Amino acid sequence: MRVSGHKLEWEGGSLIRLPEPGATFGPDFFPDARGHEIPAAIKLAVQPFVLLRPGRAPLLIDTGYGTSRGAEFSHVLANLAAAGVGEEDVGQVFLTHLHGDHCAGLTKGAFPNAQIFLTGVEQQFWTGKDHPGGHLVAAEAHRLTLVSEGDIIAPGVRVVLLPGHTPGHAGLIIDDQILMIADVVHVAPLQIEDPDLVPKFDFDPGLAAQTRRKTLDWIGAKGLVFCGAHFTGTSPYFRLKPAGTGWQMVDA
Ligand SMILES: [Zn+2]
Repeated sequence: MRVSGHKLEWEGGSLIRLPEPGATFGPDFFPDARGHEIPAAIKLAVQPFVLLRPGRAPLLIDTGYGTSRGAEFSHVLANLAAAGVGEEDVGQVFLTHLHGDHCAGLTKGAFPNAQIFLTGVEQQFWTGKDHPGGHLVAAEAHRLTLVSEGDIIAPGVRVVLLPGHTPGHAGLIIDDQILMIADVVHVAPLQIEDPDLVPKFDFDPGLAAQTRRKTLDWIGAKGLVFCGAHFTGTSPYFRLKPAGTGWQMVDA
């Protein structure tokens, strides 16, 4: 497995980060600091990924803001183009959950040839709500494929339900080696050191913390490479090594 900047390459294909402009939050990002010194400014990246496989149409994982916050927040199409992928080439879009920074780029007519995947739990949660998620499930109903834990959406690509941040929040595991955890962890290394640190955006704090702990233990025990939607840094790909009673993040 080889990492070069935004790109992770292995025998089965490559995964490329598509960075959008990030967002900055204050220390109230964690309503309960649990005794930690929380930085005054917490900077989060926003980053969809694209999976490229020989002989298969590209799979886009999340879409970013699109133009919902203004054109300057929308770099996904340009980043895809730089990777040699046109909007109409995308064959699948997997939405980890329906917060705007993950799904608002999926406007009417966007990625016209893509089948859209989303967990059924997430679809149900947002249905009827006046929110980007609610609007999306209504507008894109005709091309939504609802999935659940363990479903295979492409050869070697399996859905992993990671509930808590939102009820139907999910990631993907690729070739049993690479796990996209989306929003299980927002701020690293803080939440790797203390998985019970809960950001204000976690819908179900207790379940989110439990999922975070379980996911980190799984990554560490299996030696998986993982990436998330909001990690900052020159490379978004990491592994975990044992540290004390928990884990420490190291570059993949
Ligand atoms: Zn997010």
